[in-house]
Formats: sequence, structure tokens, C-alpha cells
Amino acid sequence: MSRVSAALSGLEDLDAILRVGLNNVLDIMQGAIGGILLLDESTQTLAYRVYKGFSSKYVADMRLHLGEGIAGRVARNGKSVLLEDMTTAPDVAHRDLVTTEGLKAFISVPLRAKDRVLGVINISSREPHHFTVHDMHLLHSIGDQLGVAIEQANLAERIKKDREEIAKLEEERERFLRFIGIAAHDLKAPLTAIQGFLWVMLGGFAGSLSDQQRNMLERSSVRISELLNLISDLLDIPRVEAGQIVRDMAEVSLPEIINKSCDDLRGVAEKKGIELKLELPEALPRIRGSAVRLQQVMTNLVDNAICYTAEGAVTVRVVDGDEEITVEITDNGIGIPGEDLPRIFDEFFRGGNVEAKGTGLGLSITRRIVEAHGGKIHAESPCPQTNGGSKFTFTLPKGSEIGPG
Ligand code: ADP
Repeated sequence: MSRVSAALSGLEDLDAILRVGLNNVLDIMQGAIGGILLLDESTQTLAYRVYKGFSSKYVADMRLHLGEGIAGRVARNGKSVLLEDMTTAPDVAHRDLVTTEGLKAFISVPLRAKDRVLGVINISSREPHHFTVHDMHLLHSIGDQLGVAIEQANLAERIKKDREEIAKLEEERERFLRFIGIAAHDLKAPLTAIQGFLWVMLGGFAGSLSDQQRNMLERSSVRISELLNLISDLLDIPRVEAGQIVRDMAEVSLPEIINKSCDDLRGVAEKKGIELKLELPEALPRIRGSAVRLQQVMTNLVDNAICYTAEGAVTVRVVDGDEEITVEITDNGIGIPGEDLPRIFDEFFRGGNVEAKGTGLGLSITRRIVEAHGGKIHAESPCPQTNGGSKFTFTLPKGSEIGPG
């Protein structure tokens, strides 16, 4: 047993584990030949993966359904089997193959991980009565060891595949966003020109307009503005790469940034009957950051809070912690459905419960900016304090704090 575990330790590749396991087993059970069959979960069949001493025809033809023959039953009920002589035993599957191969004495033990059977080790001899019950018990214990090693290898393989898949998706996502950026860039100039012409006409500089013409031009101008907003968000995605933001960083005053964003949006809030409350500590240290980008974060979050609240209050609260500054934006609006919460920071994601127009890009840009500053952002809904609406919390590290501000 210790010999097998020493031989298996450090091996991660499934085939290497099976080969080393089988070779050790056959060395211990002198004069034996054998192989390891693995269970294919999707087809519920057992097939040899490694073998020694069997003919390749025997191995290729010996495929068993779960429950079929000796090994199929061992895989199904997890109990080991010892046969003194296969030629006289009942329930042997593919008896012709066994006879041609000249197999007599036979042990089959399960390879188990927890309560799952992953496969079977079969060992055999061309001599009848070659194995003892003791051999079977020993092999059964080795089967358990091997089962755990196989499970770990499968897990490692799955993790590796998942990582590769994630990297591939990440690459595709970046490529897609770059493409979108290029398309947005090409759309911006003509749309800005159209918007310019509309303004000229609406200003009466190209002749007088009938009420109907004015109405249509105004509506066109609103639609073009919406498109230009989308384009500006799309163009922002590559610009908010961490490296670029770090280059923009300087010593900034967070209260100044927050006050400015709130001042800009107070009018919009009041129009909807929403009170915009600000709770700032007396003094906050200045931090290193990009003023423009942090302003964008605050504007996005407060604008969303106002946008997704019919009436009531939006509160911005800043807490000065030991290592970081925490900013919370709380509203009592429509809230975010539980199933949407994990996805709201994804590009283009929009909640199932929203009607207002939007691009679904604001929060993804916001997250990129916060993370580029070394901070974190998360959303809760309902807000744990008020039990309604939503609460967005982001942090900014004070690691690079620069005296009082
Ligand atoms: P947009 O607001 O343009 O849709 P965002 O990326 O800013 O894009 O937001 C993504 C989604 O997150 C919104 O569509 C909405 O479903 C949800 N959301 C964001 N902020 C709030 C909020 N304060 N209250 C409710 N839902 C919100």
C-alpha cells in the first residue's frame, strides 16, 4: 500500500497515474496481467484505458455496460470479486474473448472516490487458483487509493480546462469590445455632424419651421443625443483600461469630487421629487486618483440611483476607515431583482425590471475605474439598512494617502 501511494504521489496526469498504479499492482501480484477500465458517465460504459499482458483485440472488444459481466457489476455495486477460474464461473460477459485470451483466475475491484465508482481494476492469470482472498482485499484498498488519485486528476483537468475556457472567453470579449469601439468611433463623426445640422435648423438659422417640422426635428435631435451618449460610453470602455487611468492619477480631494457630482445632479433629482442627501465626514485625507474618472463613478452611481427611483431619497455617505475610504449610495427605488445582482456590472447588462432608456454600460465602466484605483465595488438589494431599494458600495484604498485634504 505504501509503495503504491509513494509511486502515485506528485502525479497529476491521469494516464500517468493509471499506468504507474497498474504497474505497481502487477508487480505486487506476481505473475498477473491486467488493466484498468474507466467508467464513461455519459454512456454508462466501461472501457480499458491502460493494460498489460492482454491482447489489443481483447482490450478493444471488452466494453461493458454498467452492470454487465463481472467488472460491470463491480462498478455498479462497488464490491470486489475473486474468481478461482473464469471458465467455470457464471455471468462472465464476452466468454469467447475470455476463452481466446486464456484467462482463468480473476480479481475485479472498484476504483472509488467517496461513494462514486470511477472504474475498475481487473487482474487475471492464465493459471486457475492463482489469487487469494488476501490478494483481493489488498487490491481493494489499492483501488480506493487509486480512485482518490484519479478523482484529483479529473478535478485538476477540469480546472485547467475551465481556466483555458475563461481565458478564451476573456480574449473574445476584449476583441468584441475593441470592435465595438472602432464601430462607435466611425459613427461618432457623422452623427455629431447630423446633430449640428439639426441644431442649426432648430435655431431657425436655415429658414423658418412649421410646428410639425420643429416637432420632428426636436424628436430626431433627442434620438441622436441618445445615440451619441451610447457612443461616448462605448468609446470609454477601452479608455478606462487600468494603465491609462493610473497615468491620469494625481492628488485629488474626494469631497470636492462628490460635491460636484451631487451639485450637477441635484436639479434632476429635485425635478423627480427626490431628495439628494450627502453625509460626509468633517475631514477626509486626499488620495491619489483620477479626478475625471472618480467624478464619472459618482455621477454614474448617483444618476442611476435617481433614474431608478420614482420618488423619495438618494443618500451618499462617505466613511473614513483605517485603510480605505468607503462610499455608499443608497436609494429607495425599484431595487435590483436577486437574479440580476451578479450580472449588473457586466457590459450591456440591463435589469429585467427597468423601463428607462440606458446602455447597460455605466456600471461596467464604473467597476473598471474603481478597480483601476485598487478599490472594490458591490451592490446590494434590498439595501440592508432600509430594507428597500438598492445600495452600491465602493472603496478606495488610502495606501497612497497624501495628507489632509
Ligand atoms: P443603464 O443604467 O444604462 O442600464 P448601468 O450599467 O448603469 O446601465 O446599470 C445596469 C443595470 O443595473 C440597470 O439597467 C439596472 O437594471 C441596474 N441598476 C443600476 N443601478 C440601479 C439602481 N440604483 N436601482 C435599481 N437598478 C439599478
